[in-house]
Amino acid sequence: RLVQDKLTQKEVMQKNGIDVPAFQAIASPAEAIAFGEKYGFPFVLKSRKFGYDGYGNATIKEPWQAEKQFQHLSKKGERELMAEAFVNFERELAVMVARNKRGETVVYPCVETVQRDHICHTVVAPAPVDLAIQKRAQVLARNAVEAVQGIGVFGVEMFVTAEGMLTYNEIAPRPHNSGHYTIEGCETSQFENAVRAVLNLPLGDTSLVKGAAAMVNLLGERTGAGVPDNVRSMLEVPGAALHLYGKKDSRPGRKMGHITATAATAEKALEKAERAAESIIW
Ligand code: ADP
Repeated sequence: RLVQDKLTQKEVMQKNGIDVPAFQAIASPAEAIAFGEKYGFPFVLKSRKFGYDGYGNATIKEPWQAEKQFQHLSKKGERELMAEAFVNFERELAVMVARNKRGETVVYPCVETVQRDHICHTVVAPAPVDLAIQKRAQVLARNAVEAVQGIGVFGVEMFVTAEGMLTYNEIAPRPHNSGHYTIEGCETSQFENAVRAVLNLPLGDTSLVKGAAAMVNLLGERTGAGVPDNVRSMLEVPGAALHLYGKKDSRPGRKMGHITATAATAEKALEKAERAAESIIW
């Protein structure tokens, strides 16, 4: 239950363990610098639309970087930007939510996502955090989707600080990289529940099949063909599944596929998925 007693919305959220970083619309480099002076450097400058895999974001560490990043992210003033205070998070969490037209909602397990260079690298389900934090993240994710009356499947990304405060990062209104593990990891995948949700059908069970699952993204390591040269060793890892996206060309850093592994514990699942991913020869 929310603690509400003549408090501002920010205070209500903070009392309930939800932190709210300052954010503001930014229309010029000077406004970006003023935001940094008010809320501190570093802060994050973000495109308000069309961002993915960190392409719409830049961390502004010092005032002199504002001009260049403003021009770059706004495409010389064409795109609207916002600034967000830097969140000194300990981990990043995500929760997939499916909701149909009747308002029935199912919530997937709380996962930890690890990004490298702003791109999702691994996902581990369940997240290695206290059960109470996992549950709170699931409640926040469900609330976010209810708040926008969303229909379909949604990825809700959150930050958790060392003090256990949760912060919303963003809502992706679609199947999401943090839910790819659900194909093998859960009774019903995010893709199946996306279809069920938009067709207003009953939603499927989101429980983990084996207790835990992990996913490792396969990123391009070179420019060339989009298929690996050798996957034999990978296929020998028990419980690991390979997904290739069939992209024609590979480029360094491009998402080419992913590997999911299931196991009784998240640690074992991650160990298997990483071993399988490392054995692929590109
Ligand atoms: P995208 O839509 O491109 O994935 P996000 O807003 O999710 O963009 O940001 C990508 C990553 O950048 C996040 O997963 C996080 O690691 C980092 N990030 C984003 N906003 C902040 C912030 N306010 N403070 C600290 N790190 C951030």
